[in-house]
Parts: sequence; structure tokens; C-alpha cells
Amino acid sequence: MPMNRIVVAGVSLAGLRTAEALRLEGFTGEIVMVGEEQLFPPYDRPPLSKEILKGLWQEDRGRLKVAENLDPTLILGHRVTALRASDNEVELDDGTVLTYDGLVIATGASPKMMGSIDTSIPGVHVLRTFPEAVALREAIGGSPKVVIIGAGWIGCEVAATCRDRGLDVTILEYFPQPLERTLGPIMGAWAGAMHRAHGVDLRCGVSVSGVSGEGRVERVDLADGTSVAADIVVLAIGVFPETKWLEGNGFDLENGVLCDETLQVVGASNIVAAGDVCRWPNKMFNRTMRVEHWSNAVEQAAVAAHTLIHPDEPKGYSAVPYVWSDQYDAKIQYVGTGGEYHSILEGSTEENKFVAAYATDGVLVGALCVNSPARMIKYKRFLTTAPQMDLIEENLP
Ligand SMILES: Cc1cc2nc3c(=O)[nH]c(=O)nc-3n(C[C@H](O)[C@H](O)[C@H](O)COP(=O)(O)OP(=O)(O)OC[C@H]3O[C@@H](n4cnc5c(N)ncnc54)[C@H](O)[C@@H]3O)c2cc1C
Repeated sequence: MPMNRIVVAGVSLAGLRTAEALRLEGFTGEIVMVGEEQLFPPYDRPPLSKEILKGLWQEDRGRLKVAENLDPTLILGHRVTALRASDNEVELDDGTVLTYDGLVIATGASPKMMGSIDTSIPGVHVLRTFPEAVALREAIGGSPKVVIIGAGWIGCEVAATCRDRGLDVTILEYFPQPLERTLGPIMGAWAGAMHRAHGVDLRCGVSVSGVSGEGRVERVDLADGTSVAADIVVLAIGVFPETKWLEGNGFDLENGVLCDETLQVVGASNIVAAGDVCRWPNKMFNRTMRVEHWSNAVEQAAVAAHTLIHPDEPKGYSAVPYVWSDQYDAKIQYVGTGGEYHSILEGSTEENKFVAAYATDGVLVGALCVNSPARMIKYKRFLTTAPQMDLIEENLP
């Protein structure tokens, strides 16, 4: 089918980079970009919980650069509400119907909510968008007592930023350790010790039942009947992939839209996906995964565009997931996925500079690098060849 018009749903990192890659692949037709958010160029999200929240960056910094030859047709401030794949059309929230020859799904992810917490109550915040980051920055401008629900990457970064500003911070986490789902219990405990050493009241293994107060939030209520005083509450319990609009097309939407190795949506030859919304078989780890990290969105964008424009020259996407996080004086980088904590291979937690290995059946599957950026590159390279742990240990510097 000739490609005259490609619709890109979602105008953020993955959507923008895929659109640019379409041009690099030689596409000269119309690129219609439909995004719920109003800002263009879109902004980068990692600085939201770091430089923007800290007040270090002016509002314009952190916008993504846009390739000069992109020439998009922009439809901003609108959601795509439905896809009719058999008719090659999408419908927007104002009833507009757009036909397409190719479609890029880049609708990312949105914060998970707790049914018992109304985020419209004054003092309750989530952090995914630029306006939400600005609202939270303004809210922590005095010296409020901040309670963060959830000790994942975002919750931990917000806690570190608030402590840097001298605020009274409590983290409430359901799991026994912060960051446990990524780092496991042992390195999660290291992260917990770091937050406590910086003055965070970190309470793990607790269950939140709701928030309460007169006209605004005043406390977070726990399932054991106690409560924690709060002026500001940040709900940071993870995200869910934005796939609702894809329902009714027979796609597998369990934890993201399922794609094949080339990022073509399974069941639709002219639709691809990239970024936080995409689940695909990562050959390097022999399983399907959905990755919520920046570099994944950028790398998938190039492959998704190639698949749409050159379906006859398939390129598979397999990659080592990578995430970074800045907390206090720790530059934290994690490469790989899953596996059991194995050992600290280099440095030590006392020095706040180390590499910890994760392994499955004696094979390296992940590495946590703290204040060791050069080592991270080396271990990322190791992961692509899946080396035995004993070989790595024999050759340590
Ligand atoms: C505060 C914060 C800090 C982060 N820090 C790091 C970090 O340090 N390191 C790291 O690796 N990663 C980090 N990330 C994750 C990284 O930013 C994401 O992986 C990346 O933004 C994913 O890009 P995306 O385009 O796939 O999705 P998104 O950025 O979620 O963009 C999706 C876009 O689609 C829009 N949309 C959704 N549904 C629809 C619809 N139906 N119709 C139209 N538009 C729609 C959304 O409004 C949004 O603009 C951070 C994320 C946040 C929120």
C-alpha cells in the first residue's frame, strides 16, 4: 500500500523521535501528530523530578529538539479515543476521524491511581507532566511536610529533591525495601539506608488506605488505623500503558500493546509502536517486556519507523534496558533486567561508588552502577554477550 499519510498518536519522546526517523527513512508524505498535551516541542520528562523540581532550570530548558525537516501537521490538546484498524482510521475526542496509511502508537504511560485517593483534593499531587512538575515545585516552595506514597524511581527522586530543599519527608512503601522491584531486596536496602541517612522517614511494608483532611489533605491514613501528618502528598505508585483507545481491534493489550520483534503491532501490518506503551519480544533476554525508560523510547523509535517504511527489510529490536536516576550525591545507573543479586564486583557501598551484579544461573543479567558511569558502559557491553559470572570475577581489575 502506498504511504501518503502517517498518523503518530502521542507527541512526546517516542512519538517525536519516530516521526523524525520516518523522514530519515525517506518518507516524504504527511505526518499528522496527535497529542493530548499542548506543548510543542514536547519536553523531556527526566528533568521534571530533578532540575525542574529543584528550580534549577527555567521552564524552556528541557524541551526536546525537533529536526528541521520534520514538517508535521500538529493536532495538540486532543486525545485519540478510538482505533478502527480494519478501516485504517482513528477517532479523536472531538469526533474528528483521521484516516491513515501507517499508524505509530506512542501514547506512553500515565500514573496509576489509588481508588481511595482523590487526586483533585488540594495538596495531593502526581508527577508525569510539565504542569504537574511546576505545580509540585510551587507546592513545596514553603516548608511543607511532604509524604510520598511509593518508593519507585519517581518517589525516590522526589524525596531526594525535597530533602535537598530541607523539607520534612516521609516515604510510605508497600514493599519491604524501596526500589525493590528493580534492584531487589539487598540493593533496595542500600537505597533505603541512603534515604534514611539523608533524613527521610522511610516506612516500608506499610499499606495506605487513603488521605483525609478539612478542605485539603492533612494526613495519609494507613491500613493499620494510624495516620501520618502531611501538607503535600505525592502519589508515585507506578504507571500504566495508555492502550484503552486500542481496544476492540483484537490486539493483545496485556501490559502494553504486543508487537513483534520489528515493533509491528501483532495483528496489523501498517501499525507500529514505540516507547513506554510497547511490549515486544526482547531476544536478548528471551522474553517479552515493556520498558519505561528514556533510552528505550529513543531506540525503539528508529526501529518502528524503519518497519513502517521498509517492511520488506525487517530489523529486529533487541536491547539491554537502561535507566539512570539522580538521588542526593548518587548517580545511579541500572543496566539489564531481573535476576538475583549476586555480589558487589567493584568498589563498595561505603565509598558510595560501586558496581553490583545480578545473575541468573551463573550468567550476568544486570548491573547496578553507582557513581561509576564508565563502568556502566563496560557492563552494558558484557550484558550483550551474557558472560558467566565466574569469568567476569576472574578478570576483575
Ligand atoms: C518525572 C519523570 C522522570 C523520569 N526520569 C527518568 C530517568 O531519569 N531515566 C529514564 O531512563 N527514564 C526516566 N523517565 C521515563 C521516561 O521519561 C519515559 O520512559 C519516556 O518519557 C517515555 O516516552 P513515551 O513517548 O513513550 O511516553 P510519554 O512520555 O508518556 O508520552 C506519551 C504522550 O502521549 C500522550 N497521550 C497519551 N494517550 C494519548 C491519546 N489517547 N491520544 C493522544 N495523546 C495521548 C501523553 O499525553 C504523552 O504526551 C522519567 C519519567 C518521568 C515522568
